[in-house]
Amino acid sequence: MSRAGPSSVTVVSLFPSLLGTYGDGGNALILQRRCQWRAIDVELIAVNAGDAVPTGGDIYLLGGGEDGSQLAAMNALRGTAAAASSLSVALEAGAQMLAVCAGLQLLGHSFADSTGATTPGLALLDVTTGRLATRAVGELLADPDPTLGIPALSGFENHGGHTVLGPAATPLGLVRRGTGNGPAAPGEAVSEGALQGGIVATYLHGPVLARNPALADLLIARAMGIALAALTPLAMPEHDALRSRIGMDTR
Ligand code: GLN
Repeated sequence: MSRAGPSSVTVVSLFPSLLGTYGDGGNALILQRRCQWRAIDVELIAVNAGDAVPTGGDIYLLGGGEDGSQLAAMNALRGTAAAASSLSVALEAGAQMLAVCAGLQLLGHSFADSTGATTPGLALLDVTTGRLATRAVGELLADPDPTLGIPALSGFENHGGHTVLGPAATPLGLVRRGTGNGPAAPGEAVSEGALQGGIVATYLHGPVLARNPALADLLIARAMGIALAALTPLAMPEHDALRSRIGMDTR
């Protein structure tokens, strides 16, 4: 359970029965398989609402969810098991986290639901989520922050949230097609998702790590404390062929 060093990765899937729309649960499997294919020791732990959240994980996963299950997850995070503080302890200790859609919103300062009610979030990520004028549903394509060293990101978005980044967060990418975080201030590019410390937050479902394996590898490499390029490349001819057929770069 504790950070076991560069040869072992512990993946903690948070509340998979509450949060996991559009196959977000697959993100855990992708991380597990990509470690196993490289003979990296990997442990997968599912934490259900009410269970204690381990502080020694290497990669934490939060998926998406409808407003009701999102609020239930928020209550679970604030519940008696002190899940929220375990999560901040883990992040302080250098853990990585992937948060998708509702997960992104939960980590921020606050989010608004379809009734217009605002709920405080965990404030682990410097973002605030209001409401879009029109729900964003469809394919989303984004150019990631070039410093990440990964190719274009694609996925499916379905959310009513309009997320505004504060100064401590930076965009995961810029939107080429779709809505992402939603309308930007005049003169600014429309951003998608957010990065802050070990947190990678996104509106991309897919599951995002199946559609964007380089992002999975980035999380694994960061969890192991090594450069992305130091991971053994994995051949994915069908995936590469599909990406190039639709005009997306690979790796
Ligand atoms: N309930 C949130 C919204 O509609 C998140 C949706 C999701 O996770 N797909 O904005």
